[in-house]
Amino acid sequence: MALEDLWFNPALCFINGAWVTPEAGQTLGLSNPSDGSDIGEIARGTAADIDRAVLAAEAALAGEWGRMSAPERGRVLSRTGQLVLEHADRLARIEAMDVGKPLKQAMADVMALARYMEFYGGAADKLHGSTIPYLDGYTVYTLRQPHGVTGHIIPWNYPMQIIGRSVGAALATGNAAVLKPAEQACLTALAFADLARQAGLPAGALNVVPGLGNEAGAALTSHPGVNHISFTGSVGVGRLIQAGAAQNVVPVTLELGGKSPQLVFDDADIDAALPFLVNAGIQNAGQTCSAASRILVQRGVYDQVLAKMAARYSALRVGPALQDLDVGPLISARQKQVVDGFLTRGADLEVAARGQFVAEAPIGGHYVAPTLFAGVSPDHSLAQEEIFGPVQVVIPFEDEAEALAIANGTAYGLVASVWSADGARQMRLARQLRAGQVFLNNYGAGGGVELPFGGSGLSGHGREKGFEALYGFSSLKTVAAFHG
Ligand code: ADP
Ligand code: MG
Repeated sequence: MALEDLWFNPALCFINGAWVTPEAGQTLGLSNPSDGSDIGEIARGTAADIDRAVLAAEAALAGEWGRMSAPERGRVLSRTGQLVLEHADRLARIEAMDVGKPLKQAMADVMALARYMEFYGGAADKLHGSTIPYLDGYTVYTLRQPHGVTGHIIPWNYPMQIIGRSVGAALATGNAAVLKPAEQACLTALAFADLARQAGLPAGALNVVPGLGNEAGAALTSHPGVNHISFTGSVGVGRLIQAGAAQNVVPVTLELGGKSPQLVFDDADIDAALPFLVNAGIQNAGQTCSAASRILVQRGVYDQVLAKMAARYSALRVGPALQDLDVGPLISARQKQVVDGFLTRGADLEVAARGQFVAEAPIGGHYVAPTLFAGVSPDHSLAQEEIFGPVQVVIPFEDEAEALAIANGTAYGLVASVWSADGARQMRLARQLRAGQVFLNNYGAGGGVELPFGGSGLSGHGREKGFEALYGFSSLKTVAAFHG
């Protein structure tokens, strides 16, 4: 099956432009979430491999990569994007098998990765400093320079998209990168590194060390040679990352998930909203940081919205990734256990509808029926905690003030949307909603490589994506010249 699509040995690390055996010689099992079968082995990198990778990154900065001009860096990234497109079908099958994503969703990730490479390839030579008027006899200007070695610790839910936004922006600004993909899904990270090599990325500019979080991940976080860490994952690990990075006092970007709401008002175009209301909850089986897990609906349209959402839920089909249905399996037995735990805690709630398993869904797969809960109180744990599964709660509200209070009433603040025809209301809420992105009469805007993204509160801090990420991945230097 899809492992035949690999053109490299996945049990190796990619360090200094070459495939190498992990120093401790250990591997981890690779499992297919669609049926639970063992499909191979990946490297279990340790602190020794992280050390080698950081040294290779430092050498790249001191060598060819550090000397490369911004336009040439951009060309390498653009060529990488081109190779991603040429390998699209293969990459999509690999990701579908590794993560359990329905093929179409895996292909959307491939396209996003290619777009990130095009965008950051084109942006590499457009970041610059400025001049600052100052005292008589001075000329003052600023330089935007790379941090140096950047560490990237990423999760299993959208490997390609997160590599694109994080590694893409770091390389565009001239940093070197050490990437620690998630132990559950690291094949496309390795594939990406090899495509970048083929595109002409100098050795050491990007190194990939698969391994466990508390081994390779922890070693990367607190490595004294690392100058910036970007992390996407759980709140608990985010705290550890920030604490680890504090040892060397390096900046961190944390993207930790959310409990994002969509607000549907009486004057909304319900039929236009409907696909966004449901898809934003069940895409990637709900294992999405920006999943819209709370749907807030004004009383006047509550029954209508609920009935229409329920009809869509009942039609959702759940099954193996390669069958390309609406919803695939969760990533692991552990994740299924977490989501089942939430479903048990929701036993007191009204279930408006559930999706259906296809008859052929294999027993060993980590499947959960998409579940829509209705009439949920905003303080219920299912309306407060991130579930990371295909579960949405519908919460009624009376007026704008109440909608805002409920929307802002969790510890998170990542994304929100407003469905309403009232322009003044859209503007008010766009300012007042606690979120790094607010969508008006849409949700997610089709991924939006160009759109800065990030959160506040438990959703983390820092902004990735778009041009804004280039500021985060560079350091500003002020040069003051006195010439009299
Ligand atoms: P999940 O619980 O959904 O798997 P995590 O936040 O644990 O999400 O994982 C996200 C990434 O963080 C993965 O690459 C994982 O290996 C890594 N990770 C986990 N624990 C640590 C840690 N203590 N230090 C550094 N990285 C870690
Ligand atoms: Mg896997």
